[in-house]
Amino acid sequence: VSVQGERPDVARTGVIVGEPARPVLGLDIGGTKLAAGVVAPGGRVLSLRRELTRGDRGEESMLRRLRLLGEQALAEVGTTAEQVAAIGIACGGPLDPDRGVVLHAPNLPGWRDVPVAERLSAAFGLPAWLGNDGCAGALAEWWFGAGRGESDLAYLTVSTGVGGGAVVAGQLFRGSSGNGGEFGHLLIEPRGRRCGCGRRGCLEALVSGTGIAARAVEELAATPAPSMLRDSSEPTAADVARAARNGDAIATRIWDDTTAFLGEGIATIVNLFEPRVVVLGGGVANAGEQLIGPARQVALSAALPTGRPVRIVRTELGVEVGVVGAACLALERMSAHPRHNDSANLGNGNHNNHVDTGRVLS
Ligand SMILES: [Zn+2]
Repeated sequence: VSVQGERPDVARTGVIVGEPARPVLGLDIGGTKLAAGVVAPGGRVLSLRRELTRGDRGEESMLRRLRLLGEQALAEVGTTAEQVAAIGIACGGPLDPDRGVVLHAPNLPGWRDVPVAERLSAAFGLPAWLGNDGCAGALAEWWFGAGRGESDLAYLTVSTGVGGGAVVAGQLFRGSSGNGGEFGHLLIEPRGRRCGCGRRGCLEALVSGTGIAARAVEELAATPAPSMLRDSSEPTAADVARAARNGDAIATRIWDDTTAFLGEGIATIVNLFEPRVVVLGGGVANAGEQLIGPARQVALSAALPTGRPVRIVRTELGVEVGVVGAACLALERMSAHPRHNDSANLGNGNHNNHVDTGRVLS
């Protein structure tokens, strides 16, 4: 008996045989935003709903609102739960993907051993699978995004926190219990800012949106020097990026350090996995080349030279990566080995062009 409520036909065979390829409901639990989307098996997002997570309101409130968001996403495309194959749920770890339980979520206060998959499976009457959001993003970029056709890639999301995942030799890297690949806790600066994990100077503490904002508050308190950042009572990472673009001295210093730390982190990931491509997503990566350009430069000069260049690029899935990744967690569990074919690489960069059926579940 499965606590996740897989349908017997799926659980027994690992593949949905002979069924029409039905869409999947992707639910993404982020530190700042919840997202729900109906995702076709070919990766196309048919609907997308987002709202603030408000983790401080507790797990009951959040699960209720996530369910509502999922229902709205289904209604938007005129779909009912019965027409959907499964639910995929992405959340920050640590978690137990086999039981579908979030063990502890640093960005969701008070969450301990929350049976997220079971709760949402019961709510929708569908099989539901839970996985790490970094792994989900890696799958999404591998199947449908900037890593299409590559056997080795790394995904890094720079957002409220920093998460990541890797595909190594054509396999999603998971670690022994599904919690490997926590790139956010690569140690960059041993005496640096305190991280949510308890250590100091993790990549997450230094380059996450939360870390950048905290640094701005500290820098402003340490000097009376004028700065555009003083225009806001609580400057965000986006404010820092904007002020740095406008030549603000304090913001520029913070931004330069941030891109250098990020580049060092990417260099370590490149040294560990030798990916062909590193894909960057998350809200902070919305700064685009302002973030990725200098980080790329640091990463390429710091990583050991191997003769095979690594591409360091922004997500192709944008804000949809969360729900596409969540959907991928379910698609992956339902299909033994999603196949890739060359048609996946013929797109013009818009993943919406892909064929919707017959690829992942065939
Ligand atoms: Zn840490």
